Amino acid sequence: MKWLRINVLIIVLVFGLNANSQSEIEKVLQDISIAPSAHRLEKNIQTLVNFGTRHTLSDTVSETRGIGAARRWIKTTFDEVSNNCNNCLEVSFLGDIVKADGRRIPIDTKVVNVIAIQRGTKYPNKYVMMSGDIDSRVTDPNNFTSDSPGANDNATGMAGTIEAAWVLSKYKFPVSIIYVGLSGEEQGLFGGKILAKYAKDNDWDIIGVLNNDMIGNIHGIDGVIDNTTFRVFSEAISMKISDRERNSMRYYGGEVDGPSRQLARYIDKLTDDYMTNLDAIMIYRLDRFGRGGHHRPFNDEGFTGVRIMETHENYNRQHQDIRNENGIAYGDVIEGVDFDYVAKLTAVNCLTLASLASSPTAPSNVMIAGAVKPSTRLKWDISDDDNIVGYKVYWRNTTSPQWEYSRFVGNVNEYTLKNIVIDNYLFGVASISKSGAESMVQFPRKLIPRGE
Ligand SMILES: [Zn+2]
Repeated sequence: MKWLRINVLIIVLVFGLNANSQSEIEKVLQDISIAPSAHRLEKNIQTLVNFGTRHTLSDTVSETRGIGAARRWIKTTFDEVSNNCNNCLEVSFLGDIVKADGRRIPIDTKVVNVIAIQRGTKYPNKYVMMSGDIDSRVTDPNNFTSDSPGANDNATGMAGTIEAAWVLSKYKFPVSIIYVGLSGEEQGLFGGKILAKYAKDNDWDIIGVLNNDMIGNIHGIDGVIDNTTFRVFSEAISMKISDRERNSMRYYGGEVDGPSRQLARYIDKLTDDYMTNLDAIMIYRLDRFGRGGHHRPFNDEGFTGVRIMETHENYNRQHQDIRNENGIAYGDVIEGVDFDYVAKLTAVNCLTLASLASSPTAPSNVMIAGAVKPSTRLKWDISDDDNIVGYKVYWRNTTSPQWEYSRFVGNVNEYTLKNIVIDNYLFGVASISKSGAESMVQFPRKLIPRGE
């Protein structure tokens, strides 16, 4: 069929170029997916454990023990990474005094985070962030003297963040990447609050925060040994939305399509595409039942953020005095950490950071229409971002956790999905960069005005 052959030729000509440029990001992501070093992670987790305790209230003067020594070592290590990439990281301490609260902060305490910024080449004020925690604790949350190795909770997240800096500092990205060690987590998420407020006060445009908290345990308290899955916790919608927005969801949907949930889907998709023997389990909750994590202060300020962690926790090794009791060994010791697993979860972070840091400006003002019509229309603002080569429309069944269908629709600002009835699906739009990187999917929050 000649007609078909001509069409095929045109398709090859038009999309051939695009397919080539898409492999640019694919190649980078393939390399990154196997880059984190389990050996270096083990070394750095051991170093963090060797500070004896990293409790937020512990010694800050000693060079060998306590949180002061730990944070100085983290800063020195980020500086070392930076020296290896032509000073590509801006490394600093960022802290504040937390006033005594009569609970887990018995006296005024300086809570200090360590932050390293890899400045973006095109969107310097746009950020993707990976965090781990510096501090540790034992059974009594205010015991700041006993040995508290915090090997899994959360030297794994901290070492993973340092490792991501090693891996990604070999590349340049359009968007800025922040690697941060947060402190004061166990005392009340104080380090996260300090940084989230700082980001808000300084108008940081944060695409997303990946909070890593416990990414190394594979021997669960439930008896399951599993190194092939991990969890991504995300809130369904931002709690900062207005009553008007909340009300509109009753009629137009979006109750499980907030930005943090889209970030969880983004992570799940990248894991499927690039990781072998590893699957993300999206958990449709902010965090574990009734428990907290350092993504929450960012969510509280209206930022997008999720928690990444192991699937099977072991409570004998969490927040416990090191001891033997009735034949059970308690304590968060390094023997409980699987370094290959930490490397895999670090790779998931690296993939997400690299992909989002390569992504163009996400579609803005996405609108939808189609009630009592055979087809669904989507419309969004024309962008002046010359890095955008086009847009991808996504849709899925209303009960599906992940986007199921997508179509690249070119560099347009509206598209009609013929014979797709709006009632039966949920929709979204992402933008695609020259390198093939995708933005996060934007859920339509407005209706296309009549006559447009
Ligand atoms: Zn903890």
